Formats: sequence, structure tokens, C-alpha cells
Amino acid sequence: METSVHDEPAVSLPAPVEAAIVAHAHDAAPAECCGLLLGTAAAIVEARRARNVASDATRRYAIDPIEHLAVIRDARRRRLDVVGAYHSHPRSPARPSATDAEEAFSHFLFVIVGLESGTADVRGWRWYEGNFEPVPFVRVK
Ligand SMILES: [Zn+2]
Repeated sequence: METSVHDEPAVSLPAPVEAAIVAHAHDAAPAECCGLLLGTAAAIVEARRARNVASDATRRYAIDPIEHLAVIRDARRRRLDVVGAYHSHPRSPARPSATDAEEAFSHFLFVIVGLESGTADVRGWRWYEGNFEPVPFVRVK
């Protein structure tokens, strides 16, 4: 059995935020949905939907840069940070794809909703030293 030398700290995920992300994933299918996560390093506070402007939105996502800037400004006003982004995998598990790895960067929480099994699976990931490490969620009300 492999022992991880690096454990990502847990992040709290409120049930209404998780529900909003899952609802967006279902609304957007068969395309991938995407959005931004506001909060702090330890807690997601809000999920904000964004337009997926990728040319092939059924296979990848790109957050509308105009919306991205607006959300950053809104977060700043509310003394929150844009701590991550979410997107969906309509036909595959909630694990980062090769494309996700190509576009990854550090210190950002990547939340993926997998719809493959019919039941939404929501998982968190962080890019650390060339790999995605799972981020455990503490699910709160
Ligand atoms: Zn992906």
C-alpha cells in the first residue's frame, strides 16, 4: 500500500453549495459546467456559475474571463477569495483528466462533479508537485 507523504488539509463544503454545484452539472449536461468557488483556505462559502466558453464544451471547460473578473471583484468586496473552481465530467468519474492536469496550477482548489454513475460524485483536488492530490471535504450544513 502506498503511503502519501503529503496530506491536503480538509476544506469545509456546505450542503447548499454542493447542491448548487450538482444542480449546475445536471443543467449543463451533456456539456461540462464550470464555475468559481468563493471562500477561504479552510471553507468554501459560495459557488458561482460561470459560462463555459470552451469551443468544445462537451469535452472541456473554460471560464468566461469577464465573469471571472466580476467574481474576483465581488469576492474582494466581501472579504473572500476566489479559492477554486468547479467543473463537471458528464461522462466520466470525478477524477482529473489529462486536460485538467495540463491546465492545473498550485494553490487552487479544483472541484470536479462526476455524473458517470448517474449519482453525482463531488470531489476536491489540489495540484501539488506535479500531481493532483485529493482534498478531503468536511460536509457541513
Ligand atoms: Zn475535467
